[in-house]
Amino acid sequence: MIKLLMTLLCVMMMIPAAAGPKNRISRNKMGIVAHRGFWNCEEAGYARNSLAALRCAQEAGFWGSEFDVNMTADDTLIVFHDGKIDGKLIEDYPFAEFKSHRLENGEPIPTLDQYLEQGKLYPETMLVYELKPHSSPEVEDRFVRLTIESLEKHGLLDPKRVMFISFSFHICQRLGELLPDFSVQYLEGNMNPKEVKAVGINGIDYHFSVFDKHLLWSKEARKLRMTTNAWTVNKDEDIRRVIQHKVMYITTDNPLQVRELLKEAKVREVR
Ligand code: MG
Repeated sequence: MIKLLMTLLCVMMMIPAAAGPKNRISRNKMGIVAHRGFWNCEEAGYARNSLAALRCAQEAGFWGSEFDVNMTADDTLIVFHDGKIDGKLIEDYPFAEFKSHRLENGEPIPTLDQYLEQGKLYPETMLVYELKPHSSPEVEDRFVRLTIESLEKHGLLDPKRVMFISFSFHICQRLGELLPDFSVQYLEGNMNPKEVKAVGINGIDYHFSVFDKHLLWSKEARKLRMTTNAWTVNKDEDIRRVIQHKVMYITTDNPLQVRELLKEAKVREVR
């Protein structure tokens, strides 16, 4: 009997608990995602979605760095959070209209190409690519196609290097169809993990209050082999609670603070 148990134990130890890409991690570990890069520091000049903020996140060794992408009328992908710049809807104007805009640290708005050039330099940092919703499914399909082409061009069309998030259900579904090996996380928080998985989307990235309200969703998603992420967790008490929810990743404007609180909770930070 003891011999049989020992054999079983050996076999179990030989099976990797978290087989597959970098984005599947076990329950006593958590990855930190710097929200719009590690912008909240002097070196980045407090500029969200800047090249400096990405570089700071890379240098600090966080698991991932999140950024927002919009598409202009002439099909240029740019890294910028809002749908409008100086009152102009990004998808209605050519890129030339936005060239003179400056971020808080003096940088121009990065194009996706420039951003991916910086992204390439640190293979250990997951690029958490947010596709902002656009005006119609047709425009969003073009956005998804250009996204895939850009990543391919930069040698980054790799599930170990890039994952996707979006509030657009259509974009998530399309990415799920076209790139089934990549982690794609739906952001809206209005569907349970089973419903999301059933339509071909393999992850959820929900506001932390959703995980507070639905205490089983993190566990249910893991059982369905989905990835889980909570946004945007900045206050100590919220960070501590999200750590207890055991999501795989925590998206924050205060990544150094999360690093400290993970140590305090004896949860290993995945890098
Ligand atoms: Mg975002």
